[in-house]
Parts: sequence; structure tokens; C-alpha cells
Amino acid sequence: MSRRRQIYEGKAKILYEGPEPGTIIQYFKDDATAFNAEKTGTINGKGVINNRISEHVFTRLSHIGIPTHFIRRLNMREQLVRQVEIIPIEVVVRNVAAGSICKRLGLEEGEPLPYTLIEYYFKDDALGDPLIAEEHIACFNWASHEEMHDISSMAIRINDFMCGMFAGIDIRLVDFKLEFGRLYDGDYSRVILADEISPDGCRLWDMKSGEKLDKDRFRRDLGGEEEAYREVARRLGLLQDDDNGPGEVLDLSSHRSRLRGTPPTKK
Ligand code: UDP
Repeated sequence: MSRRRQIYEGKAKILYEGPEPGTIIQYFKDDATAFNAEKTGTINGKGVINNRISEHVFTRLSHIGIPTHFIRRLNMREQLVRQVEIIPIEVVVRNVAAGSICKRLGLEEGEPLPYTLIEYYFKDDALGDPLIAEEHIACFNWASHEEMHDISSMAIRINDFMCGMFAGIDIRLVDFKLEFGRLYDGDYSRVILADEISPDGCRLWDMKSGEKLDKDRFRRDLGGEEEAYREVARRLGLLQDDDNGPGEVLDLSSHRSRLRGTPPTKK
């Protein structure tokens, strides 16, 4: 039994007070939600995989000079992070049309965008995280002009880095969501990358087959979400092949074939 103080429970994570002032422990749950929590479920082992994937991505991002809240992974489901004041904006970066932008603008899923788009959503579950313009952010003082400058330039650098990282393992980075927070040092504060980066908040498509390797498998009842998350971790080199279970080779072909109406491929 843990006597740590719980600070907050979100949809996919629980935050606990960390061992030192200014630190927090992020616990990754297996719970999955979609459509503003209208759909709920569990993806077995998701918390363990997302903890590892997020550690990997945040560590690599810090190597290219992106300041992040990540300190270190503590165990299978927990990581130690710096406590920040979360900026109430979800930053979505899009390379290819998918999800809400298709509905909003009548685009076809999979259409490459003429150039990378950055969108901002107001982080408010009760309002369903509405799309906002930079004018709203300035008008309601959710972030300063300087902070937005830092956020947008970090988002572009993160996208460039992650597109390359995923392309190297045959995955197309379609879109993803970022959150940033303020780290205070006396009166002065700077913006750093916070939250997590995992298949929960990214659209990741297999470069060759187009297979979805992210939370859309859960959102759209495609099945195979556990395997998809594991596949991303495996390709990133975070899982040994035999971590897939005794003698089991990761195979999404049955899901693929169901999607396409063709029989599963023989191994
Ligand atoms: N996203 C997220 N949390 C949210 C909304 C979106 O992580 O509350 C991610 C989502 O996984 C996708 C990207 O941001 O990779 C763009 O999502 P979109 O606006 O298309 O919304 P959705 O189709 O997920 O409702």
C-alpha cells in the first residue's frame, strides 16, 4: 500500500506527489477513453508500453535540446517528472489529414496536408476541448505571446524529429498532441514539454500497409490495440521479440485481413 499523496487522476494517468519538492510521479494506467470519455475501456499492458515509449521519446527530444519535464523512469508504470503549471492548451501537429480535421473541413483521411499544421485546443473536458485561435489564447491570457512563440517553435522541431524517428522504423507520423507547462524559477518561468508522447496521443500508420498502430484501433473498434502498441515499442527497440510472449511473433495480419476482407496471411 502506498501512502503517497495522489494529486490528480486523469483518463490515462494518475499523478502522485514526488519524493522531493517540485517533482511528481506519473503512473500510467491501462484505461483508455475516446470521444471525450464517452467510450471507455482497457488496453492490457498499455500503461507499461506508454511509460517506456514516452521515456524514450522525451529522452531523445532532450538530446536535441527540447526542455522536458521528464527526469527518469522509476519502474514499469511510473516515471518521475518535474512539477509544472500546465498551460491549458492542447497543441496538435498534423502532417496528414485524419480524425477531427477531416470532419471539420471535409478532407479525406490520408490526404497529405500542403504543409504541417499546428492547431490549438482549449483543454476543458466540459466544453469538449474546443478548437481555438491564437487570438483566443491572447485574449483570455492562457499563454503569453513569448510562450506561444516558444511552444510553436518547439512543436515544429518535435515534429521534424519525430517524423524522422518514426520514418526510420517504417511508421508515418500522421498527427499528434503535445502539452506544455511552466517551470518557475522565482518570478521567472520557462515553457517545457510535459504530459506524455505515446500511441494514445499520436496517429501512427505503418508506412507500407497503412495499418493503424495507435489509439484509433480502440476508437474505431478495429481490435488488436495491444499488439499495435507493442509493435511501436518493439520497432523502437524497447521490447525484445520474446517479450511478445512465449514463441509468439507479433502479427496483425488477422486484424488486417478483417479490415480488408481477405483471409489472414500464412506465416
Ligand atoms: N489527441 C489527444 N487528446 C485529445 C485530442 C486529440 O491525444 O484530447 C490526439 C489524437 O490522438 C490525434 C491528434 O491529437 O493523434 C489529433 O486528434 P483529432 O483532433 O483528430 O481528434 P480525434 O479524432 O482524436 O477526436
